Amino acid sequence: MSKQKIVIANWKMRLGLAESVALARQYAAEVKTGAVEVVACASEVALTAVGEVLKGSAIKLGAQNVFWEEKGEYTGEVAPQTLLEAGCAYVIIGHSERRQHLLENYQMVHQKLKAVLDHTTLVPIVCVGETLREKEAAKTDYVIADQLQQAFGGIVLVANQQIVVAYEPIWAIGTGNAIKPDDVNTMHEIIGASLVDLLGVDAAKKQARVIYGGSVSSNNVDSFRAIDNVDGFLVGGASMNAEEFAKIISSL
Ligand code: PEP
Repeated sequence: MSKQKIVIANWKMRLGLAESVALARQYAAEVKTGAVEVVACASEVALTAVGEVLKGSAIKLGAQNVFWEEKGEYTGEVAPQTLLEAGCAYVIIGHSERRQHLLENYQMVHQKLKAVLDHTTLVPIVCVGETLREKEAAKTDYVIADQLQQAFGGIVLVANQQIVVAYEPIWAIGTGNAIKPDDVNTMHEIIGASLVDLLGVDAAKKQARVIYGGSVSSNNVDSFRAIDNVDGFLVGGASMNAEEFAKIISSL
């Protein structure tokens, strides 16, 4: 049985506060969620203002990062509980841009995931993906299985907890070169099997969704629609335009 599809917008650091509020207003006016769950991940400073705008819509609020401690001397960081207070329902963990530019490592990703699951009802969106070099060296399967093991090793989901894994090949992000549908099918099979190993059959089947991210647009979304193990999309560039983002959702 296929799961409820989810489409997540990642606005990254592309918008200021006023711009984020303006895009949220356009989303509220143009995006028809229908049977699809829709999430907008705004920059931290814009979360409460964007949340206010989205309140009257079915679109949920997400954050792009989180810290693993609950409180304390951690200048510049934000606790999971604070994101919840700000109105977030989702949080991205381990995006490849943070792994690359902020040297977020396996241990940090694991600690963030554990803190979110232990202390809040936030749904984590854990990003995994291989570089072009790893792909060309035929190491993709190993790299993805390793990233999942490092993030989810020792994690036990309790009843009703939900997780999202975003498979985002780094070479496909922001390049216009989305993965081939057959390849995403294969990778999502591998991710699904790893999650069964790590979380158990029931949790993997009922509490985890596996989505694809990397140059998804209204032009290519149709080619992924029929793939049963693609539970949705993480969308960067194409989420910056409300009309384009709405088209992606309405074609699911
Ligand atoms: C992303 O960075 O998470 C992403 C999917 O970006 P894009 O859609 O622009 O490739």
